[in-house]
Amino acid sequence: MTIRELLARKKNRYFLAMVGTAVLAILSAQATYFFLPGWPIALALVLAVAAISGWFAYRFLVRCPRCKGNIGAKYTYFGKRGFLLFRPVAHCPFCGVSLDESVGA
Ligand SMILES: [Zn+2]
Repeated sequence: MTIRELLARKKNRYFLAMVGTAVLAILSAQATYFFLPGWPIALALVLAVAAISGWFAYRFLVRCPRCKGNIGAKYTYFGKRGFLLFRPVAHCPFCGVSLDESVGA
């Protein structure tokens, strides 16, 4: 696995966790209109905390495996080709390692 694949996998995983729990929190908060106002709002609060944790992971836990620099905060997209306005990232801005190198090498 290359560094690029590892970073993209982490970024996508944390993004899905963040958005998924945020959507579930909103749906759960909306459920208070249809059910007794006890457990849905408690569930919504727990899911909101999970969504915020997902954001922190998305922002702070996507790090270069070589230098542990917070590359996830600097770049949003780690694809090999450009996508819309995103340009492919070639090197870690902190240590200069190529993102196409193997993680173990
Ligand atoms: Zn680095």
